[in-house]
Amino acid sequence: MAVERTFSIIKPDATKRNLTGAVNQKIEAAGLRIIGQKRIKMSKAQAEGFYGVHKERPFFGSLVSFMTSGPVVVQVLQGENAVAKYREVMGATDPAKADAGTIRKEFAESIEANSVHGSDSAENAKIEIEFFFKPEEIVD
Ligand code: GDP
Repeated sequence: MAVERTFSIIKPDATKRNLTGAVNQKIEAAGLRIIGQKRIKMSKAQAEGFYGVHKERPFFGSLVSFMTSGPVVVQVLQGENAVAKYREVMGATDPAKADAGTIRKEFAESIEANSVHGSDSAENAKIEIEFFFKPEEIVD
């Protein structure tokens, strides 16, 4: 498997509890390199666009309001098999179902306030990275 990139968000529940460093520690310990990172306040339009695939889901409005409720840290991660590796480090969407040692098991508050986002495919990673980053903001 070649070196690839994935897109990550440290969500408002985690930034609010000063867990940015703890999340980054788990990312780096897994061998993923943080090659782009910035702290932003997501606008409603950005959150709706980013989660557009979920717009028919009953939790869409709640998810958008959660994602805009406080600062987030958007990141580009690079490494061998980065998409799948970061999904492993994150753990299952529902923290109650996440494996021991994963970010969501250790830090998430609920199925919605689950501390992190990670792309689910290399194709989506590229789209998501381009949604939030200019090329010059990524330095590998
Ligand atoms: P992910 O790829 O593991 O982040 O999961 P999904 O793509 O299925 O969902 C996107 C995000 O929507 C999740 O990370 C949660 O923040 C939120 N979410 C997913 N399922 C639920 C749910 O059943 N209820 C609520 N309130 N939020 C959910």
